[in-house]
Amino acid sequence: MDADHSAARPAGQGRRAILLATLGAGLAARPGGAGAVTHRAAAHARPHPLHAPAIIGRAAAPLPLIMLDPGHGGKDPGAIGVSGTYEKHIAEAAASELQRQLLASGAYRVAMTRTDDRFIPLEGRVEIAHAHSASLFISMHADALTDRSVRGASVYTLSGQASDAQSAALARTENSADRFGGPRVHANSPEVAAILASLVTEETRRGAAHMAASVVDSFRPRIGLLTHPARHAAFVVLKSADIPSVLVEMGFMSNRMDEAALRQAGHRMMVAGAMKQAVDRYFASAGGVTRLTG
Ligand SMILES: [Zn+2]
Repeated sequence: MDADHSAARPAGQGRRAILLATLGAGLAARPGGAGAVTHRAAAHARPHPLHAPAIIGRAAAPLPLIMLDPGHGGKDPGAIGVSGTYEKHIAEAAASELQRQLLASGAYRVAMTRTDDRFIPLEGRVEIAHAHSASLFISMHADALTDRSVRGASVYTLSGQASDAQSAALARTENSADRFGGPRVHANSPEVAAILASLVTEETRRGAAHMAASVVDSFRPRIGLLTHPARHAAFVVLKSADIPSVLVEMGFMSNRMDEAALRQAGHRMMVAGAMKQAVDRYFASAGGVTRLTG
């Protein structure tokens, strides 16, 4: 996209301008003026390049922190599968496996909103991600739909306008998880959805869309997907203004085959492998936000 290229340009031009100014200052300071020296002589004459510290600073940058958010927990079981599986247990097992794979790569730091079976309110999950200064937030779920024939994975980003009725229903169910925590209940009015969506900055929105596309690309060859797998709706847990956030439905507890697959450690390992690849692709493309397709 032209807009993205132009957005990336000023930083490069800025660096070039600083470099030229640095060289110019160095040459002007030499006795005899700049015109008389060859490039080789100039290099020998300047033992302390002024731009070196900036390069060292970049190399020492910490690894990006990935925040994994296993859905539900504690008194909130999430969806209950056709043969009795609790979504909260599937989400926790899959997130642990993804954490293992991400850490094994040595390319990331990983934090989890929960590592045991406990209840955390939705806004608490977003706050934990902020407390860790996460680079990316991934909420992991396996909810239920009223149509039990629907199966396959899908990925969701925040929007005030749901992409379809199924996604709107999912967001309503997810946002009502806080009812387990007491009286604070999220309204599901269009006004609240619009406010949620308006909190998210354009850069964060583009990062989330890019991550969602990476998830779809990585899942497609090996894991069944819904027909339009990249969807959006007003999920409270995705409302961070500065951390690109996605919610992945690894399959649906309401479908007998999805439930059976997600109960298998081998299948969860494959799902986590695809998600790890999506994270790799996200960070491989210019920091995850500056180079978008479509
Ligand atoms: Zn869920």
